[in-house]
Amino acid sequence: MKIICIGHNYPAHTKEMNAAVPAEPVFFLKPDTSLIRDNQPFYYPTFSKEIHHEVELVLKINKAGKNIQTQFANKYYDEIGIGIDFTARDLQAECKKKGLPWEKAKAFDGAAPIGNFINKKQFADVNNINFHLAVNGSIVQKGNSKDLQFSFDAIIAHVSIFFTLKTGDLIFTGTPVGVGPVNIGDKLEAYIEEQKLLDFEVK
Ligand code: MG
Repeated sequence: MKIICIGHNYPAHTKEMNAAVPAEPVFFLKPDTSLIRDNQPFYYPTFSKEIHHEVELVLKINKAGKNIQTQFANKYYDEIGIGIDFTARDLQAECKKKGLPWEKAKAFDGAAPIGNFINKKQFADVNNINFHLAVNGSIVQKGNSKDLQFSFDAIIAHVSIFFTLKTGDLIFTGTPVGVGPVNIGDKLEAYIEEQKLLDFEVK
């Protein structure tokens, strides 16, 4: 399976990163070794001094598809979850400066904790889903899928031009404004609407 992550997909976050608003979805990959499941702890890596949280809604692909048309894209996922796109911001800044790829900063072991998934039928409208992240009990990031620059369906259509999507692939759909550092000892809790789906510690 593969993990596809969309960058700069909430305009307010794009602005906080001083990045240009993209004309088409920006994406990158993480390997399966970046996943953390079952609320297992995230171990702060030794190679970074600035790990940032990016809370994101995550789509789970339910069948194979290539060149999927936007109008049919909703048939390619049944479940939505929440995850953290952990980013070594210090390494990412270095990569950006040198024009190098971001993998070191985005795709390392443990860089993709994911929570439980819920059936999308639970939502009246997938383009209006509230989610948030609390660190040590305080809300640090709040988003709603209505603010996505590229909708779930637009993302699936675009990404499937380049990659065959397969059952079990995950798509991180982008983070809202409010990214920031985590520290050893922090407790992270991520919610979709009022439902807590992810709860783990930084060790
Ligand atoms: Mg992200």
